[in-house]
Amino acid sequence: MAARAAAMFPMNDNQLLRYSRHILLDEIGIEGQQKLLDAHALVIGAGGLGSPVALYLASAGVGKITLVDNDTVDLTNLQRQILHSTESVGTPKAESGRKSLGRINPEVEVAALQERVAGDRLSELVAAADVVLDCSDNFATRHAVNHACVAQRKPLVSGAAIRFDGQISVFDMRGDSPCYACLFPPEQEFEEVQCSTMGVFAPLVGIIGAMQAAEALKLLAGVGESLAGRLLLLEARGMEWTSIKIARNAACSVCGHQHS
Ligand SMILES: [Zn+2]
Repeated sequence: MAARAAAMFPMNDNQLLRYSRHILLDEIGIEGQQKLLDAHALVIGAGGLGSPVALYLASAGVGKITLVDNDTVDLTNLQRQILHSTESVGTPKAESGRKSLGRINPEVEVAALQERVAGDRLSELVAAADVVLDCSDNFATRHAVNHACVAQRKPLVSGAAIRFDGQISVFDMRGDSPCYACLFPPEQEFEEVQCSTMGVFAPLVGIIGAMQAAEALKLLAGVGESLAGRLLLLEARGMEWTSIKIARNAACSVCGHQHS
């Protein structure tokens, strides 16, 4: 009887308290929280978007977080990359992030990888994850991450923010949603704009990153409906949101052949 009860309620008293405001939600409850504790999220990028993403995933109790970033913390990052502090300037972002997350929730297992991942290494990391969050700042990484997620059929929560403009969507190959390349074909030339040269409004990355965390938690706990098939665009000067329905491109060079 005791063993059965333990199996039904594997969370200890401290966990029941820590996650009580999730457990109180009908949509999450003990079962949904347990799914989060059992989940593994892969976060690509520990910068502006990766900061709120990692902070919320850790505080919410996602059991394992793999945080990937090959960069080190720079003074110019601190205006918006809230995972890092003044003391961490000059240290690897992945490791600085791991320390911050450990202070918020020591129960979460955080793997900090100071690497620029691509190819087989990226496939391997994606295969081990339940959800992937693209918090990178360049098209090459976004396409590589999308490619791996399509191949492994893993849900991808994609965000981007520059100046006062943000966007977010979910690309989930387990359903009939499009992939990132259906929207932004890799063979097409897009103007590469990065925060390092163009500037970015500090809380914009917080807004988009927090929404990425929300979508990932929903996917992991099985709550509501994801943004798959919809692209949300934010124009933060007027604080206007636009929701665009997006469809799969049958001729997509990445996912086109994956569908029957
Ligand atoms: Zn596609």
